[in-house]
Amino acid sequence: MLHYHTIPVTPFQQNCSILWCDQTMEGAVVDPGGDLPRLLAFAEKQGITLKQILLTHCHVDHCAGTADLAEQLQLPIIGPHEGDQYWIDALPQTAINYGFPPARVFTPTRWLQDGDTVQLGQSTLQVRHCPGHTPGHVVFHSAEANRAFVGDVLFAGSIGRTDFPGGDYDTLIASITQRLWPMGNDTVFIPGHGPESTFGRERVSNPFVAGT
Ligand SMILES: [Zn+2]
Ligand SMILES: [Zn+2]
Repeated sequence: MLHYHTIPVTPFQQNCSILWCDQTMEGAVVDPGGDLPRLLAFAEKQGITLKQILLTHCHVDHCAGTADLAEQLQLPIIGPHEGDQYWIDALPQTAINYGFPPARVFTPTRWLQDGDTVQLGQSTLQVRHCPGHTPGHVVFHSAEANRAFVGDVLFAGSIGRTDFPGGDYDTLIASITQRLWPMGNDTVFIPGHGPESTFGRERVSNPFVAGT
């Protein structure tokens, strides 16, 4: 069974989630934006062996710690979709612009496509490509745990910004309605910022997507 724990990191309070399979205690870090000592301390305390880094997209608050973590623990970097390459290239400059600690570029070990799966111990995550906030944004879905790690696609009561270069509002709405909603109304999602919610609740009350 898949378990997870979410730790808000960086000045942007980005929800970094540590996922693990309780059969093997193999773990993954989703979006290591920073504050690596806190992430590593949690994994150690729980007896989790970190095996991979998963990225939803390559904004600085989600991946500034990726190069350091990958190097320190020799972890593969899985995702996002290659449409986010230009955000990886821009990392050193965006880190400066937003007052982050220095962030280094990295090379994903594996780019992800819509429909791919990622194996974590005995658990399988389904990958959906959900562009709109960034062109290469992906979402990780665990049908078994009824959870979706959606990065900055959808928030409780809001949606991701589309005013950055490469963002597109209509594309984002299509990603939400065509790729998230089919996971089911009772799916609990973990957004990149703020509290969890369910797709069903957002379909009723989120002003950007209510009634879709
Ligand atoms: Zn973002
Ligand atoms: Zn974010």
